[in-house]
Amino acid sequence: IPSPTAPDGPVATHCPYCALQCGTRLRAAGHGDAAAAAPVAVEPDDFPVNEGGLCQKGWTAPSLLRAPDRLRTPLVRDASGRLAPVSWPEVLDTVASRLRAIRAAHGPDAVAVFGGGGLTNEKAYLLGKFARLALGTSQIDYNGRFCMSSAAAAGTAAFGLDRGLPFPVTDLAEADTVLLAGANPAETMPPLMRHLGRAGALIVVDPRRTPTARRAALHLAPAPGTDLALALGMLHIAVTEGIHDRDAVDQRTTGFEAAWRHAAAWWPERVERVTGVPVPLQAEAVRMLAGSRRAYVLTGRGAEQHSNGTDTVAGFVNLALALGLPGRAGSGYGCLTGQGNGQGGREHGQKADQLPGYRSIADPRDREHVARVWGVPPGRLPGPGRSAFELLDRLGTEGGPRALLVFGSNPAVSAPDAARVTRRLSALDLLVVADFVPSETARLADVVLPVLQWAEEDGTMTSLEGRVLRRRRAVSPPRGARSELHVLRELAVRLGEPADRYPEEPRLVFEELRRASAGGRADYSGITYERLDAGEALYWPCRHTPDGPAHPGTPRLFLDRFAHPDGRARFQEVDHRGPAETLDERFPLWATTGRLLAHYQSGSQTRRVPELMRAAPEPTVEMHPDTAARAGLAEGDLAWVQSARGRVTARVGLVPTLRTDTVFLPFHFPDGGRANLLTGTALDPRSKMPEFKVSAVRVVPAGHR
Ligand code: SF4
Repeated sequence: IPSPTAPDGPVATHCPYCALQCGTRLRAAGHGDAAAAAPVAVEPDDFPVNEGGLCQKGWTAPSLLRAPDRLRTPLVRDASGRLAPVSWPEVLDTVASRLRAIRAAHGPDAVAVFGGGGLTNEKAYLLGKFARLALGTSQIDYNGRFCMSSAAAAGTAAFGLDRGLPFPVTDLAEADTVLLAGANPAETMPPLMRHLGRAGALIVVDPRRTPTARRAALHLAPAPGTDLALALGMLHIAVTEGIHDRDAVDQRTTGFEAAWRHAAAWWPERVERVTGVPVPLQAEAVRMLAGSRRAYVLTGRGAEQHSNGTDTVAGFVNLALALGLPGRAGSGYGCLTGQGNGQGGREHGQKADQLPGYRSIADPRDREHVARVWGVPPGRLPGPGRSAFELLDRLGTEGGPRALLVFGSNPAVSAPDAARVTRRLSALDLLVVADFVPSETARLADVVLPVLQWAEEDGTMTSLEGRVLRRRRAVSPPRGARSELHVLRELAVRLGEPADRYPEEPRLVFEELRRASAGGRADYSGITYERLDAGEALYWPCRHTPDGPAHPGTPRLFLDRFAHPDGRARFQEVDHRGPAETLDERFPLWATTGRLLAHYQSGSQTRRVPELMRAAPEPTVEMHPDTAARAGLAEGDLAWVQSARGRVTARVGLVPTLRTDTVFLPFHFPDGGRANLLTGTALDPRSKMPEFKVSAVRVVPAGHR
C-alpha cells in the first residue's frame, strides 16, 4: 500500500508516454494528504535521447497526475448496472471468487489476460507469471501485438534477435543518410529529430507529406499498402546498378539468392506502376544510401501495421543487408518502437508465445529455466496462447474465454474493428479493468481496479534502444489507488498461490526478473537498481558476472556476429502482395490511420490533459481538396468516413499534399470518432499484426448515406 507522502526535491524519472523515454525531473509540492492534490512541476533532464528537450506531451504530463476523473476507489457493477464503489478487500474477494467459479465451470483457458506496452518491466513480468501460474491460463497477450510485432518477427528472423534499435539513438546523428519507412518522429517522438537533424540527409517513405517528410531530402509517397513493392524495387536497383555491398552479403549473410529471385522481378518501372513512386526518386534514394559511409534504414508503424507487415519489414531489412548496413559500425537497421515500454513489454512474458528473457514458451529448455525460477515443475506452465486480436475475437464465444483481465490497455478504442471488439468485451461474464482513469474499456467493465500511474511508484522501463531505465516515485498516489503489483499478489493469494511467489516491491520483482532472464535472449541478469541509480547506461544483453568485473551491457549489437548460431544474418524470401481489401465503387478511397503530435495511443491519457485537448480536440479526416470537392465537402465540414465495418464522424481538414486516393484519420479519439471502427481484421500470418494502415472507405457529408 503506497505511502501517502511525496519525496522531497526534484526526482529524476522518465516521461509516461512514448518509447523514446525522455528524461525528466519532477517536483511535487506538499506532504501528506495535501501532496496528493498539489501541483507537480516538470523540467526536462539532460538525458542523451532528449538533451534537455521534451515534446508537448512530456511538458504537460503532470496534468495527467491530477486528472479530475482519476479513479480513486474500486468499482463493481451493481444490480442496477451502475459501477458502484466498494472496498479493496471486497473487490479482491469478488474478483477471485468469480474467477474461481468461471475456471471451475469452463477450465483455466476460460480466463484471459490482456496486458500493455506501457506497463513497467516489473508489472509485465509479474502479469505473465500471474497468468501462467495463478490463473493457469495460456490466454495472455498484449497491445504491443498491435504496435511493433511485425518488426519484432522480421528482426528475429533476420538477425536472430529483436531489439528495436540495436544501437543508441545518439548514433543516428552521425549518419550520412537515414531512410525512415513509415515513421513520423517529428510528431510521434519530436526530440528524436534533434539527432536526425544532425544526420546528413533524410529519406522518408510515407503516403502522407508528414512533418517528418517535409524535413526530408527525398520524400517517396507510395500508395498505401505498397511499401513492400518499393522495398523490393530498391533492392533491385541496388543489385542491378552493382552498388550493393557484395563482401558483406557474402561474408555476413545467407539467403541472398532466394531473396533476389523475387526482387529481380521488381524493375523500377513496374514499381512505379504499383506504388506511384517515380523511377528517378527510387534510384536516387538507393544511390544516397549506397553512397553513404554511415547509413540507417528505420521502420515504423506505417511499414509494419499491414497484413503483410512482417514481409514488408523484411523487405527493408533485405535492402539494408544488401547495402551492408546491419553489423557495420555507424550504420544499421532498426525499428522505432512506439509504446513507452514496447520493448520491455515484449521481453518479460506477457506475449502469448513468450516467457521472460525473450524465451519461447514452446522451448523445453526455456520452460525448464523459467519454471525453476518460479519454483514449479515445467509441466505447470501452459503452452502458447492466442495473439491479441485472436484472443479478443473469441471473448464470450462458444469455447472462448468467459472472463478477461485488462491491465494497461484500452482495446475498445485501440483494437481493429473496434465495434466488433466492443461487442466481444460486452459478451463476457466478467470484465475486469485495472486503470487509473475511466477508459472506454473500463466503462464496459464489471469491475474496475484503480491503479497507480507512472510517477507514483518505482520500476524500470526499456526504451526503444534497449536501454533499461529507472522510473521513480515522485508524487503521492491517491489513497484509494493500489499498484498493479499489489493487485496481482492479492488476487494470486486468493486463488491459492503462496504470497511469497508474488513480491509487490518493484525491486524484488526486478531481482526475480533478472534471474528469469539470465541466459535468455534479453538477458537482464547483470542489471541492478543500484547500477541504474548510479547513472550507468545499461543496454541488454547485460550478463551477471559473479567472478569478474560487472558486464558493461551492449549498446551496439551485431558488430562481430549476428545472433543466429552461424553468426550470419538471414535474407528473407518475400514478395509483394497487396492489402487484404481492394478499392471498388462503394469504397473508392484508402483510409490510413496514425498519431498526432498532441496525443498518444488510444488517447485515454492525453485526452485528459487540457493543453493537449486544446491543441487537438477532435478527430479530423485529412483529405486532398479535390477528393473533398468530389465528395461535396469543404474544410471544417462534418463527414462520415465509412468502411465495410463501420462509420466514423470527423471534421474535414484539407491537405493539398495528400494523395488523392487516400484519407488520413488519427486513432486517439473515442465513441463515434474511433478510427478503428473502420479498420479490418486481416492479420499478418507471421506476426498476427492487424491491418491498421489500409482500409477501403468512402467519405460523405455527415447525414448522407
Ligand atoms: Fe514523452 Fe515521447 Fe514526447 Fe519524449 S518524445 S516527451 S518520451 S512523448
